[in-house]
Amino acid sequence: MVLVMSIQANNTEIEAVQQRLNEGQLAYQRSKRGERVLFEIDAESATLTALDVTSWSGVERTIAEMPRSLVGRAFPEEHTTVTVGPVVIGDGKFVVIAGPCAVENHQQVLEIAQAIKESGAAMLRGGAYKPRTSPYSFQGLGEEALRYLVEARQATGLPIVTEVVAVEQVHRVVQYADMLQVGARNMQNYALLQAVGEQRKPVLLKRGMSATISEWLNAAEYIAAKGNSQIVLCERGIRTFSESTRNTLDLSAIPVIKARSHLPIIVDPSHASGHWHLVEPLSLAAAAVGADGLMIEVHNHPEQALSDGAQSLTPYNFTILMQKLERLLQALPSRGHDCD
Ligand code: PEP
Ligand code: MN
Repeated sequence: MVLVMSIQANNTEIEAVQQRLNEGQLAYQRSKRGERVLFEIDAESATLTALDVTSWSGVERTIAEMPRSLVGRAFPEEHTTVTVGPVVIGDGKFVVIAGPCAVENHQQVLEIAQAIKESGAAMLRGGAYKPRTSPYSFQGLGEEALRYLVEARQATGLPIVTEVVAVEQVHRVVQYADMLQVGARNMQNYALLQAVGEQRKPVLLKRGMSATISEWLNAAEYIAAKGNSQIVLCERGIRTFSESTRNTLDLSAIPVIKARSHLPIIVDPSHASGHWHLVEPLSLAAAAVGADGLMIEVHNHPEQALSDGAQSLTPYNFTILMQKLERLLQALPSRGHDCD
């Protein structure tokens, strides 16, 4: 049995509980989950009931076993904040990540980075290694693209997130990127999840296109189990029978994740919809439903883009979106952690 102390329990109450367990000659392990103290007690439920432990000052309740999952929400106050350079995701401030689907050349990524920064984006995205459906499509510039991303960061101060598609790339990409992305197609690549869990940069974990919420959270658990709990989830649309959009944006995933996990969650309306004109309404909806941020594809010449031009916003349309988002966020009730 586990005796769960209240989050408000003070030291005197905690020590008094420990003292009473000692007096009762009960074997226990004291631990912490966030700010909360737990006593894992080697005793049957009836023993604790007989001792009337829930009436002890500072005790909140008893539970049958220790919360196993690292990414699951065991207690309402749990909230992970993820720090990417100067940016914090999950602290109540809405974070917008923007940039091209793929880094195509030096000038392109620099121009886009400068434009999105002016409009208020907090981070730059851009693919160096692209997981393309066809082997004949543009596969990304690889390490050359990573160097261009670093130059764009130096020019703008925006931290960069870029995808790793294979285990052997992880050690190279961490030398350049501020955050590693695991894409939808790799959400259940357990070797890759473990590899990004073993390094210390934060991870953006996209939802697999046919993944349930449980499968997604288990994928995050693989990363956390290796010691890296700096994970941001990204809902990017799932495969459904609907043909009108590239994927179907599962907006309900946001409140569901908020209830089941303490990890931040952002939304990618670009891959979810496949059409640039759907990006704005879906972005606003994502903010309204409680997402911690967005990841949006922006291209300075979408009609010439080597990948995903149809879903990319121009810098001008991105600016309009940022202005509308700003107004919406101001109108929404407090975006702090008061919704539990
Ligand atoms: C991307 O963000 O570049 C990407 C390939 O997205 P997804 O993995 O969601 O398809
Ligand atoms: Mn893309």
